[in-house]
Amino acid sequence: MRKALSLLGATGSIGQSTLTIVAQFPELFTVSALAAHTRVELLADQIKRFRPQLAVVADKVHARRLEELLPGGLPTEVLYGEDGYQMAAALEGVDMVVGAMVGAAGLKPTLAAIAAGKDIALANKETLVMAGEVVMGQVAAKGVRLLPVDSEHSAIFQSLVGHRREDLAKVLLTASGGPFRTRRAESFDTIQPADALKHPNWSMGSKITIDSATLMNKGLEVIEAMWLFGVTAEQIEVVVHPESIVHSMVAYRDGSVIGQMGVPDMKGAIAYALAYPERLILEQPLPDFTGIGALTFETPDIGRFPCLRLAFDAVSTGGTMTAVLNAANEMAVTAFMNEQIGFTQIPRVIEAVMAAHAVRYHADIDDIIAADGWAREEAARLVAQL
Ligand code: NDP
Ligand code: MG
Repeated sequence: MRKALSLLGATGSIGQSTLTIVAQFPELFTVSALAAHTRVELLADQIKRFRPQLAVVADKVHARRLEELLPGGLPTEVLYGEDGYQMAAALEGVDMVVGAMVGAAGLKPTLAAIAAGKDIALANKETLVMAGEVVMGQVAAKGVRLLPVDSEHSAIFQSLVGHRREDLAKVLLTASGGPFRTRRAESFDTIQPADALKHPNWSMGSKITIDSATLMNKGLEVIEAMWLFGVTAEQIEVVVHPESIVHSMVAYRDGSVIGQMGVPDMKGAIAYALAYPERLILEQPLPDFTGIGALTFETPDIGRFPCLRLAFDAVSTGGTMTAVLNAANEMAVTAFMNEQIGFTQIPRVIEAVMAAHAVRYHADIDDIIAADGWAREEAARLVAQL
């Protein structure tokens, strides 16, 4: 039987790669729902091709524009807004929800999908950073499967298959180091958005590309790994690996280290989550080991990349602090891309918002959403002052 997918964030980098795989394996997958934000032209093309039952966009205006772009005779109902996204996540007949929206917008649809008993392929790491405890609790209560799409987490997941959890000692989370790995700290102030948007190894959406340049992406991934694999921050070591061939590793208590390698292309990790435990024939090239010659590893430089330290700080505080870290980061990254603040002000804004936060512990979803909203206002206020 074909697996019916609901794809949230269909027009993004992960969304488009997901549809490339779906198109390659029509005997394995069908598309029941496609959701995007405002890029209705691209979404319309996807709808014509995959003929979903449901399509969702940001608001009424974009829903109207989408409807105008769609020819008659399609089976697709068009909805919009938060309710629409949640309907797509919980749609009857859907077997798996692919969470590929960017940012905090992914949280509520992911929870709706879990509540409806759907398996989830999760790219949207912000959901786990904000509300990992609540999300994992509901995953366990509902008995659904949450499969990682993030390449490092897919690598960790693959390195755990066939091993006993109690034998795990450590997770070695690899990081490319981003475009400024070797750049001198003194010149960080002159970094422009266009410089930060040039990732050396991966082609991704703009928010995660900036996060990779500040190393906040790795900080968010530490938190993501904690929740996905039930490990503490102390058990996670970030290792800079500029070649991006080793996607991450797991160390066992006998000293064995098992990792997963491949070329830096998200299709491998996406396909693994979609078809788990099967491996699809993707015709990906193998890493050119002899051409590359050497795989190298370094310690991250927290002095030049304070965002990584801020993520560890947020974890050690706990409670609503990781949601605040995430929200302040989203605001700071947007402000940097809009040229309102400089590159080195990103961590400063986040740190100041975190310092002003009155943490709540044992937070429920409403507390988390309130903390997210508070942090956005606080960050906007600081950005306006700078
Ligand atoms: P993109 O920016 O390329 O795409 C984001 C998608 O989300 C688009 O479909 C966009 O719609 C939609 N979207 C944006 N804002 C909203 C909103 N407020 N409500 C609903 N939908 C929205 O991002 P990526 O594909 O790069 O990343 C998606 C997620 O996957 C992120 O959480 C990222 O951290 C994670 N990830 C990405 C990787 C990658 O290689 N790209 C690797 C690992 C994880 P529209 O196009 O209409 O704006
Ligand atoms: Mg990653």
